Amino acid sequence: MLTLASEVQYIKGVGPARARILAAKGILTVEDLLYYVPRRYEDRRHPRTAAEVQPGETATVVGVVRAVRAYQTRRRQLNVFEVELSEGVRRLRCRWFNSDYLKKILAEGQILALYGQVEDDSSPGSWRGTDLQMVHPQYEILSGEEAGPGGASLEVERIVPIYETAGSGRLTSRFFRRLVYSVLDQLGTVDDPLPACVREELRLPHRWEALAKTHFPDPDSDPAALASFRSAHQFRLIFEEFFFLQTGAAVKRRRARTAPGIAFRITDAVREKIKSILPFHPTEAQKRVLKEIAADMTAPHPMNRLLQGDVGSGKTIVALQAAVIAIENGCQVAVMAPTEILAVQHFLYFRRLLGQSGYQVALLTSAATPGEKTKLKRLIGEGLVHVTIGTHALIEEDVEFRALGLVVVDEQHRFGVLQRLRLMQKGRWPDVLVMTATPIPRTLALTLYGELEVSVIDQMPPGRQPIATRHVSDSRAAEVYEFVRKQVASGRQAYIVYPLVEESEKADLKSAVEMHDRLSRDTFPEFRVGLLHGRLPADEKDGVMSEFKAGRIQVLVATTVVEVGVDVPNAAVMVIEHAERFGLLQLHQLRGRVGRGARKSYCILVSSGPLTDEARARLGVLTRTQDGFEIAETDLSLRGPGEFFGTRQSGIPAFRIADLVRDRDILELARREATKLVEQTPPGPETAELVRYVREHWSRRYGLVMVG
Ligand code: ADP
Ligand code: MG
Repeated sequence: MLTLASEVQYIKGVGPARARILAAKGILTVEDLLYYVPRRYEDRRHPRTAAEVQPGETATVVGVVRAVRAYQTRRRQLNVFEVELSEGVRRLRCRWFNSDYLKKILAEGQILALYGQVEDDSSPGSWRGTDLQMVHPQYEILSGEEAGPGGASLEVERIVPIYETAGSGRLTSRFFRRLVYSVLDQLGTVDDPLPACVREELRLPHRWEALAKTHFPDPDSDPAALASFRSAHQFRLIFEEFFFLQTGAAVKRRRARTAPGIAFRITDAVREKIKSILPFHPTEAQKRVLKEIAADMTAPHPMNRLLQGDVGSGKTIVALQAAVIAIENGCQVAVMAPTEILAVQHFLYFRRLLGQSGYQVALLTSAATPGEKTKLKRLIGEGLVHVTIGTHALIEEDVEFRALGLVVVDEQHRFGVLQRLRLMQKGRWPDVLVMTATPIPRTLALTLYGELEVSVIDQMPPGRQPIATRHVSDSRAAEVYEFVRKQVASGRQAYIVYPLVEESEKADLKSAVEMHDRLSRDTFPEFRVGLLHGRLPADEKDGVMSEFKAGRIQVLVATTVVEVGVDVPNAAVMVIEHAERFGLLQLHQLRGRVGRGARKSYCILVSSGPLTDEARARLGVLTRTQDGFEIAETDLSLRGPGEFFGTRQSGIPAFRIADLVRDRDILELARREATKLVEQTPPGPETAELVRYVREHWSRRYGLVMVG
């Protein structure tokens, strides 16, 4: 008896070889297979012949192959494979270039369904207005040995599901269609884990019906709704996927809110202290955010808050204010940063502002000698250090705090959830503030940080000027360097950044090192040109950074290690080489290294070689806007969620059907519904059942860690 949990390899027609290909797609069980939904549909309810289609439309044409031929084009010597379908005087030729393998697949006499754009055939000897062509249409052979399961035609006279092929085409769309059909046939029915109350309220179809009809839509379905993934059945499956994820997040939020935590007290003395430390007036946004944080901190439960704000919006100072609250209440603070450079910088910033109040600020990174570390750890353990700033070194097992009350994690997406938890466990339910300079589109924030409350600093400190941003080709490098020279000669400083793509780290490193040699020797012999990259020993990195900060290095050649948080207000020019190789957000972050002072700053994006349309669009966005959220939304829609945070581990769940760009409205709905159900007091009978289901399926479905 087939169930949802049955392994696909035992389904008739699968076997070990195909099972391996399916496994590579994440399809191990019948359930996985059923959630492998069609990518699109072809409306073959009234299949049209070659005589019935018009140039300019994208259509499915069904017909008999009258002739096939293979030849070479004269001018460009391309191999062409051609299939001809004729209907009356109308001739339709389908052409594929450099696709010789088709010779073995397509043959005269077959009945084909071809999907693609229909055009006038402009090749020599064809009749304008009569002869049509399709270039690289998708094809499906309709005539064939095997009849569809149960004698039903799955391929014509219906709305036909089209699946993504697997194993480099070895498992075809037709294979999936037939497999799913036979599985649905054998399966009978399945349970619905979605609570009945939610289903009723939103009038969602039962899971079984949703699955069956997403694969095989009713004949009267609306093809437009199907194409936009908004049929009632698709909607239900997308909703379900978000709903379970948001249920997990809501459970975590509820748990955090009811857990015992530290209720910090904010007295007038604490307020005075905070004021005396601030070197400037906070912006309205900073004030609002600090209020939100203070409210969390005074509540007797742990704070779980994400602080978002564009580069330079002034997050660090808000974290510092929160630190003062904790310290004045007799607690210690830990600040974890993703890189050595950033940790050092936070350290200097905190020490400069807090040192005058007699607070002890310490830096703990892997760069410290064992002796220094031991000593520091002892001081931390005795509670003599008020603020400890560090990298991953902070979560090492032997780092113990006497009274850790506040944890600040910078650039959270560089850390996994587990690392954050390990740091939290060094205290007894400390308050947690997660900071990110990555403007995370709301859909992603809800998905990744669904269990956190969110604060946003959406305002820049006063006096900032827009950064003039231009995109040029590297044929104009000499001009760019000339511009850098002028700026530096007038007392400003410049960054020249090279990409460091993870896969080819070595080669790229070489380019940064070589360019540093060239630039310092030939291009800017009159300036001091520094080099900064991730492979330098820590003390050398620190040395270069502090020389740059002090203005003794005027031009800094760097890899993306300068991407996050580096703060040198006198730097006015950011040149990014091979800009086409960076992601939008990364470029935005890099650009944020300049424009931090009151004077005019510049960002020059230098690209090499021909650009793809996508790359051109990406660079264009940056020259147009400086709004981080707009840039982030664009990045998300251009590259999709998987690529959003670049190649680094990002913890974005692998959705099976849902799409964070397309389905944001459904995500919001699912979040509201999940929260309502989880927060219900007293909990309804269905809630416990739901929570159990989510716990059991969490890691398998979302590839995430379910904690609590
Ligand atoms: P972020 O961490 O959000 O990138 P920072 O906290 O590093 O931003 O602040 C960027 C710069 O702006 C720092 O030099 C900081 O001292 C300054 N700054 C922050 N808030 C203000 C403010 N309200 N008024 C003036 N300058 C500010
Ligand atoms: Mg910062």
